[in-house]
Amino acid sequence: MHTLATTQELLGRAVAGERLSLEDGMQLYHHAASDDLREAADAIRRKRHPEGIVTYLVDRNINYTNVCIIDCGFCAFYRKPASPEGYLLSNEEIGHKIEQLLAWGGTRILLQGGVHPYLKLDYYTNLLRYIKERYPTIQIDAFSPVEVWNIARIMKIPLSEVLEELKAAGLDGLPGGGAEILDNRTRNTIAPHKGTWESWIEAERQAQRLGLTTSATMVFGFGEDVEERSLHLTRLRDLQDESLAFNSNGFTSFICWSYQPDHTAMGGERAPGEEYLRMVAFSRLMLDNFANISASWPSQGAELAREALYWGANDFGSTMMEENVVSAAGADVGTCMTVEQIHEQIRKAGFRPAKRDSKYGILGTFSA
Ligand code: SF4
Repeated sequence: MHTLATTQELLGRAVAGERLSLEDGMQLYHHAASDDLREAADAIRRKRHPEGIVTYLVDRNINYTNVCIIDCGFCAFYRKPASPEGYLLSNEEIGHKIEQLLAWGGTRILLQGGVHPYLKLDYYTNLLRYIKERYPTIQIDAFSPVEVWNIARIMKIPLSEVLEELKAAGLDGLPGGGAEILDNRTRNTIAPHKGTWESWIEAERQAQRLGLTTSATMVFGFGEDVEERSLHLTRLRDLQDESLAFNSNGFTSFICWSYQPDHTAMGGERAPGEEYLRMVAFSRLMLDNFANISASWPSQGAELAREALYWGANDFGSTMMEENVVSAAGADVGTCMTVEQIHEQIRKAGFRPAKRDSKYGILGTFSA
């Protein structure tokens, strides 16, 4: 007779390095006590990162446009193409923001839209070349799966060609924004025009095959069930296996945060802090082929992000300098953290801060 493993057995297996199946994960998320999830995730984090450091990135988030045709029900940032509040930054404005970042010791920009209906491929390649020619040391992680699929649609060319052109123009990485929940039941409800989970995975797969830097995200709390959250993680894990076997260039990291409902068309409630922490721990347990799990201070606040460092996270995210998307949806935590503030949070948690680059290479470590 087949008997279900107990939650303690499953946690023990995960800590020992065994892979948990989708069903194992669902059972754990439903039944494991929060303290047990935390302990197991922390044990795995300590095994993977025994050095006692927590990393962070000095970067700037630049939203080059807020014009968007996707109409996600959970988004308070975008404006429709005809809106007088729509904007598109000039290359010079973007350059000015990069100069400020360089003065801050920053190494990376995260350049994200809006999914603009009219910009053609040469807008993006010209922008990337403009940046790389003037600021050659800056890493450019830009756009997201839905943005690059939009360019392919406008240009009527394959996605692989779009990515190759962007890379040739200076793109270093394709961030994993817009994953939300990687299952079509929820996607069809919250963002029916954003593309299927398969399209998100395919864009990341192609980016990884080209050698672009990629990271994985998840936004939870839309009313999805535990199976959908678990599928999200196993789908990321499957792609990670595939990409690591192909050319050792998988996702650098995973980050999750809870849906921020203020000023959105969907409205609703924000998930409690404990649920966020459970999701961080759960992702550490399920994503056995991911080295890095990041805490998310812009959405959850510094205190909860710090707490996440005991629930499996080993990275404190980035300075951002400005953040316009989750803050538009009411994440009331400010839009920037200085390096000193990040150091303070990491030290308070008992770790040594370590400045990293976008590929998680360590640029410098500091005292605890
Ligand atoms: S989340 Fe992104 S794709 Fe969706 S409406 Fe907002 S800007 Fe557009």
